[in-house]
Amino acid sequence: MIEVKHVKKVFGKLEVLKDVSVEVKDGEVVVILGPSGSGKTTLLRCINFLENADSGELTVGDIQVDFKKASKKEILAIRRKTSFVFQNYNLFANKTAIENVMEGLVTARRVPKDIAQKRAKEALNWVGLSDKYDYYPSQLSGGQQQRVGIARAFVLDPEVILFDEPTSALDPELVGETLEIIKKVAEKGITMIVVTHEMSFAQEVADKVIFMDGGVVVEEGPPEEIFTNPKEERTKQFLSRII
Ligand code: ATP
Repeated sequence: MIEVKHVKKVFGKLEVLKDVSVEVKDGEVVVILGPSGSGKTTLLRCINFLENADSGELTVGDIQVDFKKASKKEILAIRRKTSFVFQNYNLFANKTAIENVMEGLVTARRVPKDIAQKRAKEALNWVGLSDKYDYYPSQLSGGQQQRVGIARAFVLDPEVILFDEPTSALDPELVGETLEIIKKVAEKGITMIVVTHEMSFAQEVADKVIFMDGGVVVEEGPPEEIFTNPKEERTKQFLSRII
């Protein structure tokens, strides 16, 4: 279970998150929608402590912290339970696909190299890259790089994977194959929070859709409700623009 309570985040004078609360049950896929600048990415980054929230509380499994007062040890413990998939992949350019996937296992988890290598191969096979172990990111397509990014997140066996617009940097023809891999992750029963503009993916895969605007959660509910019968005017306007 992951629970964010009353998180706030300000950049300068801009209140990017104004008291946001979100609950995600074990195995649930939650999709966060909203216009550009509504705070979706910032919310995900705060959950992983890539960004320091100004106040609020966070629970991930059996760890509960105050965003502002979390110790280094608590932050590490939260990071162990949460993996992040970035919009721009964030792979090490000077490491091969398999080295990228092994990195977290070896450095953060202290898994012996031979075991890390075996697990990394399994993860790469699983995302359909069994023939690309020794390729560098520059030798891979965007879709393949993102699959390495997903394998790297998945191999750490996290409680939750946070996907930050995982397909928005991809050429349109590569979006579908990447979404298929993300669906495979969902089918494994891993808890997921996905920020995306891919409405059909949200409709098909989400257990719950959260619509954010202006740093607040405007509305949330099952996809069939949000997409066919949104209650709030702002949700209706947003959906009418993009569907
Ligand atoms: P998009 O769909 O365009 O990615 P978003 O909903 O994910 O948007 P965020 O990326 O969370 O929005 O950004 C929310 C606001 O916070 C934006 O106005 C952005 O410019 C601002 N912002 C984000 N990160 C920083 C930062 N590190 N410093 C200053 N302002 C920031």
